[in-house]
Parts: sequence; structure tokens; C-alpha cells
Amino acid sequence: MTIMVSGTGIAGMSTALAAANAGHRVTLCGPHASTPPAGGIQLAPNGWRALDQLGLFDAAIERATRLDHIVVRDLGSGATLTRLSLNNHYASIGRADLLDLLQNTVAKRDSITHHAALISHAVPHKDGVDLVFEDGHSTRAAALVAADGAAGLGRRLVAGAISANRQLNGRVAMRADIDAALIPAVFAQPASNLWLGQGAHLVHYPIAGGARINFAVTLSAQLAAGQWQAKIFGTNPLFETLASGSFTWATTSVSPAGSPLCWRRGRLVLAGDAAHVMPPHLAQGAGQALQDAASLQQALTTADSIDDALAIYARHRTSVVSMVARKADISGKIMALGGAGGRLRNLMIGLAGPSFLHSWLADVWAGDPGMVK
Ligand SMILES: Cc1cc2nc3c(=O)[nH]c(=O)nc-3n(C[C@H](O)[C@H](O)[C@H](O)COP(=O)(O)OP(=O)(O)OC[C@H]3O[C@@H](n4cnc5c(N)ncnc54)[C@H](O)[C@@H]3O)c2cc1C
Repeated sequence: MTIMVSGTGIAGMSTALAAANAGHRVTLCGPHASTPPAGGIQLAPNGWRALDQLGLFDAAIERATRLDHIVVRDLGSGATLTRLSLNNHYASIGRADLLDLLQNTVAKRDSITHHAALISHAVPHKDGVDLVFEDGHSTRAAALVAADGAAGLGRRLVAGAISANRQLNGRVAMRADIDAALIPAVFAQPASNLWLGQGAHLVHYPIAGGARINFAVTLSAQLAAGQWQAKIFGTNPLFETLASGSFTWATTSVSPAGSPLCWRRGRLVLAGDAAHVMPPHLAQGAGQALQDAASLQQALTTADSIDDALAIYARHRTSVVSMVARKADISGKIMALGGAGGRLRNLMIGLAGPSFLHSWLADVWAGDPGMVK
């Protein structure tokens, strides 16, 4: 019997490849997005290691932009608070480029078929999952990997309706994907830049080899409702063009981190945002999704049965993800500080230096110790 994977995002397609790499026949279900998404993501060493385990490292790094430093600055004064050198693989990649790579790789695999309909019902049993699709088709799969996002059916079935509701914390991310030729050349430098303001922060980094710049500003929904650009970018001449407000900014709600304690119901397991909602503060949502896929591949390859593999995967990943989620939430709270708290934060970051930042990120970037090659 086939393993069904629901969702054609980063988690779904990488998980379908993982199960195929482990020797299973796979059906990937759900429609592909009709328009490629804008913007990019940063992938830290743990994400690149997972891509390597999936056999995608070379093809992905070719489409990526390596970043040499993380630079943390004060948004008000422009002062550099700390600068961390990145010696390991750390790179940005366009969302559309990563999805295109995954989609092309999946399409070339004989053991993966694609069914473009959404799942409308799934009933997990001891030895399989009964599935009904929105196009009326029904089938039984050996297992279902639900990578259908934070509001998907999989999470509702495993965690229940209440936990599936996404709690919002009143903060939003404003995102823009801007042609580098339209803004100062300094934005194309190969660094991940974090600007800490009072109650808001800005992240930017180049994608597509510096041809485009990805911006994300996290601020309160209340502030974002008005002419927020002038308030956030202030009088810093570097941001003059951005403050003019002539670019298109997309709004995304930022949820606090959340992951159900259990990722599995019988032969149904969760992966990606369905398993763990990550606020973007540590840039780990997609990286963790890739780690889910690599971990599932290892479990399916080495365990004696599908049941053992799903149990090992779920147990292993919940413990790693809870640490990453906790750190992402704490980081978000620190980044959101305003007033005296924000000033004290900036002072402490400056005093602690890059080794503190490195030690905060080290266990997140080390990824899944059981999975290191
Ligand atoms: C502002 C912001 C910045 C971010 N930056 C980073 C970053 O720098 N680095 C990083 O690693 N992560 C980052 N992330 C997180 C990252 O974008 C997500 O974690 C990742 O895209 C989630 O992928 P996914 O495949 O799990 O979910 P999704 O992309 O949500 O995919 C879910 C899929 O499931 C499908 N689906 C839904 N219901 C069904 C159904 N019933 N049947 C079949 N299919 C179904 C949908 O159509 C969709 O294709 C960021 C997020 C935000 C908001």
C-alpha cells in the first residue's frame, strides 16, 4: 500500500521525497499553487543538512545566496550591536525557487504519483488510513503524512479542534520582495540583517544572488493598520526609499510557537507547519519542515515496520521541535520589547557580543542530533 502525503508546500513535497527515498510508493495530494510565492526564506545549517540527507543539497545551494554574517543593529540609531560570522552553510533561497526544485524532483520520481485534489475526510485505523477527496475519489493508504499546514485537517485530527485554532498574538509581519536595483546597493551585501526597534523589528537579506531583497517587518497589528513605514523607518537615510511607501507589502499574522504534544494518531503523522507553528523570529519554520522530512526518511529506512517508523519519527521530532519553538517564542518576546526594555535589550546584546548569539543559536542549528551525518 501507498503512503499518502497531503500538502504541496515545502513540508509536503520534501516528505514525499523522503518516503520515496526510503523505498515506499507515495501519493502526494493537493493542488500546486497557481502563482509562485514571492520572497525568500533563510535556511540555517540544520536546514541545509536536512536537504543533504534528502539528496537535494547541490541543486538547492545552486539556487541559493550564501550569507556571510548576521548583523544586529539598532533601528533608531543605526549602531551595530553585534555581528556574527557564519562559517557554516547559511543561505537564503527564493520560496518559488525551492518549491520549483522540490516540484521538479518529485515529478521525476516514478514511485511518486500526484493527485491534485484536497483531502476532505481521513479516518486513521490500526493498519492504514481511509481517505476521501474533494473530487469524490476514495482510497486506503498505508499511512498519511499530513503536511497540510497549520490550519489543516491533519492537525485537527491529531490535536483536536481547540488546539488547532491558531492563537494570534496581535503581531503581524509585513513582507516585501524588492528589486535590488531600486534601493541602495548596500542591501545586496550577503548578510542577514536584523534591526531592533522599539516594539518592532526588521529583517532583510538578499535573494537570487542579490538581484532581489527580501524584507520582513514585525510589528503590532495596530501599528501596521496605519502609515507604518514612516514610523518604523524613521529618518534613517538608508531606509528613505522604503519609507516612501511605494512598494507592495503583504501582511501575514504572526502566531506564537505551538506544537501538539503528540504528532501521531495511529497511521497518521504530522509534518511541517501542521506539526509546528513557528513564529519567524529564528527563521526556522521551513528548516524544521525539512528536518521532519529527513527524520522520517531515516525512520522509514531503519525501522522494522511502518508503525515503529512513525512512532520513532514522532517521538524524536517532538523533543527537538519543543526546544526550537521555546527559543523562537523567547526571541520574539525579546525582539518585541519597547521603551526601557528595548533599550536595555540593545545594551545587553552589545555587551554580550557575538559568542552569546552563537551559543543561543547553536543547539537550534545543530538540528536533530540523531540525524547528523
Ligand atoms: C514572515 C515569515 C517569514 C518566514 N521566514 C522563514 C525563514 O526565513 N526560514 C524558515 O525556515 N521559515 C520561515 N518561515 C516559515 C515557513 O514559511 C513555513 O514554516 C513553511 O513555509 C511551512 O511549509 P508547510 O509546507 O509546512 O506549510 P504550507 O506552506 O502552509 O503548505 C500547506 C499545504 O497543504 C495544502 N493543504 C491544505 N489542506 C489540505 C488538504 N485537506 N488536503 C491536501 N492538501 C492540503 C495547502 O494547499 C498547502 O499546499 C517564515 C514564515 C513567515 C510567516
